[in-house]
Amino acid sequence: MAKDGIKAYKYVGKDKFKIAGFDTGDTGEFADRAEALDEFVHNLLRINKLQQKLYAERKEGVIFIFQAMDAAGKDGVIRTVFNTLSPHGVREYCFKVPSSEESSHDYLWRFWSAMPARGNISIFNRSYYEDVLVGRVHKLYKNQILPERMKKSDIIGQRYEQIRNFEKYLYDTGTRVIKIFLNVSKDEQARRFISRIDTERKNWKISSGDIKERQFWDDYMEAFETMVNETSTSVNPWYVVPADHKWYARLTVSRIVLQTLEEIDPQWPVISDDELEAVQEYRKELAASLPGEYIPPVPQLPEFANPGIVAAQIVENEERAKIVEKIARRKARGFKAVEELLETTPTLASLDAIIEAIAEAKDQETEFEEET
Ligand code: AMP
Ligand code: MG
Repeated sequence: MAKDGIKAYKYVGKDKFKIAGFDTGDTGEFADRAEALDEFVHNLLRINKLQQKLYAERKEGVIFIFQAMDAAGKDGVIRTVFNTLSPHGVREYCFKVPSSEESSHDYLWRFWSAMPARGNISIFNRSYYEDVLVGRVHKLYKNQILPERMKKSDIIGQRYEQIRNFEKYLYDTGTRVIKIFLNVSKDEQARRFISRIDTERKNWKISSGDIKERQFWDDYMEAFETMVNETSTSVNPWYVVPADHKWYARLTVSRIVLQTLEEIDPQWPVISDDELEAVQEYRKELAASLPGEYIPPVPQLPEFANPGIVAAQIVENEERAKIVEKIARRKARGFKAVEELLETTPTLASLDAIIEAIAEAKDQETEFEEET
């Protein structure tokens, strides 16, 4: 199971979220980022495997929603945590200021086309929650032409209820909505804005509009607090993630994604006994059609895999030992040098050494064969 360092950040509608007391600089049980790296890459590897099953099973869709103040790290979290996922099952949607077509409809209209099919994951980089954040802070509904009956109603108050119902509808019809609020402090936002101004490659991320929005900080904090308290439910929880340390926010989000997928617990689809029997027959034909004996494929060497997964494999001791062992067994049964290397704790360096030793042993074997 994912380490439950996320329990304290989870809101399901029972305990009230109070933004004033929240420690945005929290780093949990870790003293620094180096300590957290190992778990982070482990989580990515496990997320990757679970996503493959989720996609194959085609049972549930998942939406991960990210909301935050500017420069809280949404883009970086999404880039790092989801980068080992297979693109066929995941898509990110970045919701900006609604277009004129979008704002000529109800505020939930533009999200329908972004719903994940069963087995897929949609990442919402901002969402309909903007309509109770920026929409609440600036009373944007006042710019719209509204029917008389709406003018008298509590438009924002109604939206919380509409969103709860909308998400319940999604849950009841096969789609989970997991909501993540990256909570950054005002000081840390200032540091990140300065860095965006000072660093050329980050310039594109800052605008004077961002700095104007910062003046409404307190109103935003109230809006975030109310949003979490009004729309957290047991099946569609909010996670409020401390975001002053990017590495800790990324680790925490990896834990949330992992735990969500573990809860879904997707399984490889099984084929019927009849079908299995039929393909077994076919297997015989296929094997007979080959020029030589069928040799099962050697496990893929890490260099050919996704870099994120390779990183995960480097630290995944068990996984690494298995790879090393499989390669060694299949390719090098009886090669003394390899056996000796396998006695040592496998590391990435020794994996290279093992591959080299296999190649060397093979050369020697060919030489030996040629001589005799
Ligand atoms: P960014 O994600 O930094 O590229 O900025 C996107 C901008 O779009 C943010 O300033 C959001 O507040 C704004 N935005 C997103 N959704 C809405 C919405 N429904 N109404 C008004 N502004 C929105
Ligand atoms: Mg921005």
